[in-house]
Amino acid sequence: MPIRALNPRVVARIAAGEVVDRPASVVKELVENSLDAGSSQISVEVKSGGVSLIQVTDNGSGIPSGEIGLAFDRYATSKVANLEDLESIRSLGFRGEALPSIAAVAQVDMVSCATDEKAGTYLSLQDGVISGQGSRGRSQGTTVTVNNLFRKIPARLKFLKSVATENSHIANVVSQYALAFPEVKFSLLIDGRAALRTPGSGRLIDSIAEVYGNDIAGNMIELNTDTAAPLPRISGMVGSPKVSRSGRGYLSFFVNRRWVNSRMLAKAVEDAYHGLLMVGKHPVAVINISLPPQEVDVNIHPTKSEVKFRNDSAIFGAVQRTVRRALTEQVTVPRVEVAATQPVFPSEVRETTLLSYAGASSGSITSTSTLTPAMSLPVLRVLGQLDNSYIIAEGPDGLYLIDQHAAHERILFEKIRQQRSQREVEIQGLLEPMTFEVSPRQEAILKSRYQDLAEFGFAIEPFGDRTFLIRALPALIHDKDWAGMLRELLDSLSRGDKSDWAEGVTITMACHGAVRAGQSLADAEMRELLRQLEQCATPHTCPHGRPTMIHLSSSQLKREFGRT
Ligand code: ADP
Ligand code: MG
Repeated sequence: MPIRALNPRVVARIAAGEVVDRPASVVKELVENSLDAGSSQISVEVKSGGVSLIQVTDNGSGIPSGEIGLAFDRYATSKVANLEDLESIRSLGFRGEALPSIAAVAQVDMVSCATDEKAGTYLSLQDGVISGQGSRGRSQGTTVTVNNLFRKIPARLKFLKSVATENSHIANVVSQYALAFPEVKFSLLIDGRAALRTPGSGRLIDSIAEVYGNDIAGNMIELNTDTAAPLPRISGMVGSPKVSRSGRGYLSFFVNRRWVNSRMLAKAVEDAYHGLLMVGKHPVAVINISLPPQEVDVNIHPTKSEVKFRNDSAIFGAVQRTVRRALTEQVTVPRVEVAATQPVFPSEVRETTLLSYAGASSGSITSTSTLTPAMSLPVLRVLGQLDNSYIIAEGPDGLYLIDQHAAHERILFEKIRQQRSQREVEIQGLLEPMTFEVSPRQEAILKSRYQDLAEFGFAIEPFGDRTFLIRALPALIHDKDWAGMLRELLDSLSRGDKSDWAEGVTITMACHGAVRAGQSLADAEMRELLRQLEQCATPHTCPHGRPTMIHLSSSQLKREFGRT
């Protein structure tokens, strides 16, 4: 075939493929347009996974009747005018591609009424060509109706997943924007069923309750945002470590309110949870990053779902610090619930934090920038042991019950991590090397992990035929069932990258090295354990994220005894 320029309809369809790859991307573009138009109410309705119908109705600024046809021209936009504008984009749209792209692959009707216009205008397009136009009454705002998406592109249709999957992508898009714009009232109807309805109250927690449910909403911690501080400003909410999830689907990031995907931001948040979540668990987070538009390039991807920061590491650091600070300030001793009607979160928890501050001998209330003071325990006095499993102690504000195993796990976890990072692991050499036999699968893993294990104090070498020689062990576990522990490690940690692996080894070693429940402890041992717990950066949870202690405050005790 000779080279020739493609006709405009072919060009339009090829280009549309970049912007509109599935029904959810149509929803995303239309919702973004409604948000750019300043709407306070956006209703989305879809049928059959969005293939037979997608309709988005808003009460935004509308399109003047003289411009409605132009809106469907490629690269026609009201949002940028010149090159300088492109450097500082504040709107969600700017490429002028969405409407023509959608019109190229579906049948589209638009009815819009702009501010100050008496009547609305409608426009119908078939295969990207205007097929009807006229006036139609409606109140201010815009309705876009998309029918028969991809009907003329069987290849695209074939690549769509089940209706349920396409619906879930659509629900996710609307949910994300509902989280990004709590002041906007969103509703989503899927095949006639209300899938989402947010109140538009302007409070993020209300949107979170609608999108994720009350269980998660009741366990969210607000990021403490200093609105006077220079940009970037990090705001939003993160889940307490109690509500971890097994996937990354509960991490939402908005850059100047644009929903973006970013591995870098996900990593920053996960780093902030280091040691607070079990291996393989992921946090819940809704995070807004505000920064001058010049500091971020939003024009690197046709769907605008990825961005490039001018200074990646500054953003990474800001997100990680802000989340970590919120967690360390708020992860506090769980209170014994006296009456079910008492609100527990979030004011109660904040109060608890302050009480333990006030009680701490050296903690400083104003210093929130460092980790230790916020998390530190008050000085505790051992009263005794309960059930050979719990240490009973008295603090400045009431009674503490400490889970001896969980607390010791936390102590060892931090110790191992510190020793390893400083390359000062305590090692116990063996007078006689011992042999260690493994299964074929365990052998394969062990062979690839000599070096990683050496960092923890294991000196292991092959001895042939699924047998290994152990010449030294971490001092912490040399007198424990290290062989059982090693096997457990090899079984559970076969997958994952090096950082996950190291975390897993640390947790397993801490767990095996820690005193067990049921073990009787002498007074001096309990005192020593509490003293070491006080030194921990995050003493209130074990490495698996479970609480190490329960606190019953003096005022709760008084209430219980009817003395208030
Ligand atoms: P972009 O959003 O990049 O400008 P689009 O193709 O999505 O490009 O939209 C083209 C233009 O149509 C927009 O710039 C805007 O002026 C107008 N428009 C589209 N949707 C709406 C809406 N819901 N309300 C008001 N104006 C709209
Ligand atoms: Mg747009």
